[in-house]
Amino acid sequence: MKIGVLAIQGGVAEHKHHIEALGHTFVEVKKKEQLEHIDGLIMPGGESTAIGKILEITGMMLTIKNKILWGLPAWGTCAGLILLAKKIENEDKKFLGVMDITVIRNAYGSQIDSFTSSGIIKEISKIPIPFVFIRAPYITSVGENVRVLHKIDGNIVAARQGDILATSFHPELTENLEFHRYFINICRKTKQ
Ligand code: GLN
Repeated sequence: MKIGVLAIQGGVAEHKHHIEALGHTFVEVKKKEQLEHIDGLIMPGGESTAIGKILEITGMMLTIKNKILWGLPAWGTCAGLILLAKKIENEDKKFLGVMDITVIRNAYGSQIDSFTSSGIIKEISKIPIPFVFIRAPYITSVGENVRVLHKIDGNIVAARQGDILATSFHPELTENLEFHRYFINICRKTKQ
C-alpha cells in the first residue's frame, strides 16, 4: 500500500517509521499532486490552525476534502482529528469538516495537557495499546454514522466513520504498530 502522510508540520517521521515497519510505502504529501497515487492519507499531530492555514493557502484543503468524500481512507491523529471534524466547540471555524464529530481543542487543559495511558480497543487488538496524549482534543459527540472505538473517563478518544479514522492520541509515538496495521487494512479493503 502507498500511504500518504500530510507533511506540512508535526509528527511525519514517526508515521513514516510505522508505515515502513509494516512493509508499506510512505509517501510525503506536501503538494496537491502528491495526493494522486496514494491508497490512504494520514494527517499527523501538530497545530491544527497552522496546518489548516497552509492547506487553505495551497488549495489543498478542497482537494483533500473531495478525495475523502470520494472514498480516500483518511486517519487524523490529534491535530489531524481536529482537521477532520465537522464542528469544533471552542473555535468558530472548521477545516475539512468531513467527519460527523464535534470536538474540543486542547480539551485536557493546561494542567494535564500531556499524559499517557493504555487500554484495550477490541476492534484493534486483544492486548492493551499504549496511548500518548499531547495537548489533545477529544470528541464530545458523534453522528449516527460514526462508531465510537474508545473512551477514556467518558470522553471519546477514538472513532471511525466509514473509512475515516480519528484518534486524540498518537500511536506513532509508541512502539505499537496495531493502529497503523488497522488503518492500512482499511486502505487495502477500499482498494480491492
Ligand atoms: N493542540 C493541538 C491543536 O489544537 C493539537 C496537538 C497535537 O496534535 N499533539 O491543534
